[in-house]
Amino acid sequence: MTFYIKGHRFGYELQRLAQTFFFGEKIEVIEGAPDDGVEREYLYALLDGQRLLLRARLRARVQSGLFADAAGWEDKKPVVILLEDRAGPGDPPKQLEHKFAALLYGLLSQLTGLTPQWGVLTGIRPVRLFLTQMENGLDEPALRRHFIGERQVSEERFQLALDTARIERPLLSRLSERDFSLYVSIPFCPTRCAYCSFVSHSIGRAAKLIPAYLDRLCEELADLARIISELGLRLRTVYFGGGTPTTLTAEQLARLMDTISDSFDLSGLWEYTVEAGRPDTVTAEKLRTIRSHGAHRISINPQTLEEGVLREIGRRHTSAQLLEAYQMARSEGFDSINMDLIAGLPTDTREGFSRTLDGVLRLAPENITVHTLTVKRAADLTFPQARAELDLVCGMVDEARQRITSAGLNPYYLYRQAGSLSSLENVGYAKPGTEGLYNIYIMDDSHTVLAVGAGGATKLCRRSDGRIERVFNYKYPYEYIERFDTVRARKEKIRQFYGRG
Ligand code: SF4
Repeated sequence: MTFYIKGHRFGYELQRLAQTFFFGEKIEVIEGAPDDGVEREYLYALLDGQRLLLRARLRARVQSGLFADAAGWEDKKPVVILLEDRAGPGDPPKQLEHKFAALLYGLLSQLTGLTPQWGVLTGIRPVRLFLTQMENGLDEPALRRHFIGERQVSEERFQLALDTARIERPLLSRLSERDFSLYVSIPFCPTRCAYCSFVSHSIGRAAKLIPAYLDRLCEELADLARIISELGLRLRTVYFGGGTPTTLTAEQLARLMDTISDSFDLSGLWEYTVEAGRPDTVTAEKLRTIRSHGAHRISINPQTLEEGVLREIGRRHTSAQLLEAYQMARSEGFDSINMDLIAGLPTDTREGFSRTLDGVLRLAPENITVHTLTVKRAADLTFPQARAELDLVCGMVDEARQRITSAGLNPYYLYRQAGSLSSLENVGYAKPGTEGLYNIYIMDDSHTVLAVGAGGATKLCRRSDGRIERVFNYKYPYEYIERFDTVRARKEKIRQFYGRG
């Protein structure tokens, strides 16, 4: 489908909104107007002086007021629909964009029968919008008017975002200008999951790279520690992610964690997390090593407890291995465990997802994160495979929210991703006082995150003027190893950002 844009610059936003209605369909944005007589489906948004015009030539996907005879829509001829609005005197561009978005949302809802839960909001961080409006002094009724009344956000998503913002607010206000978090990337996994689009190398092919990778990673950490000590920055959270950090052996983990404790001042640290995502990589020895080196929070991720679904998504472990890894972590003294789930996995069912929730809630982890399945073009999973779950996913996500909050865990961070089923969200839930701080801080553009390792993306943030800069490491481990001199040289940007270059 083509989206023609003329007289304004809202193409990107409008394309993203249209995408929430057409899962997996490619929508191409073109500047200009459609030719007369064009036969295919298209959307056209024209700003002509004060006149906002939205023209669509589409087939109806459902029966609705606009499309009374939509049955068997694929065989129908597209019909042309015109909607109009007018710019008010002095409307700023943002207001015009919202007027176009409201027209588009109304039209596509009627056409497809869908009412995306986040209304016209398309950004990945809706909670940031709530926090900003709260900082602007809006109380709950005013927030309600803004988000439900004007942005078409559903009551459930409004409440979810508001609850999350209320928990995030005091945790964000603890941060100061010189605080930062450290992200350590271990981009290796035992096998590749079907839905994965990360730069993760399955261990079979990449095992031989690990020793050289670790050598470089330790050098990069030591370099970074020297810089941050010069700059007087204070380390608040450490996060080992990837990939699966527990793909490393206990000795390798110990070496890495020793490098961190020898190089950095950890006296101001609030949180230390190691992802132990795949249970088939977890051993008592590794857990003991992680715990004794100061990490207190880990993530053991079932995604699902359904054996057939686990096989379908290429995770070569069983639910029994998951339970065993979880019990081992408890025995080794971890008192903050997160478990990730995914709603909408191929071949999963409502009953299967409920059983997974039963099993996870029985374990009573401190944190549960519920992701909505996201389809990326770089993953093995295809859009047609995922489309089968579209009707189920909203019910799954809503059931998860109800049951997890009833068990005493509250939503504390939330983000959305392009390509997720029904444009739904990913939500982290936590027992009060066990919120994963790194997860909140990485979402906020006022906190510096320094990343080491392949695929690491450093984000430098200055609160005083809102400046943000990013520094990227090479994506793949072999590039990172071979071009390490460049990785080192790029560290200068941190000094420059903080004014010591
Ligand atoms: S465990 Fe995570 S990073 Fe590794 S293959 Fe699976 S989804 Fe990708």
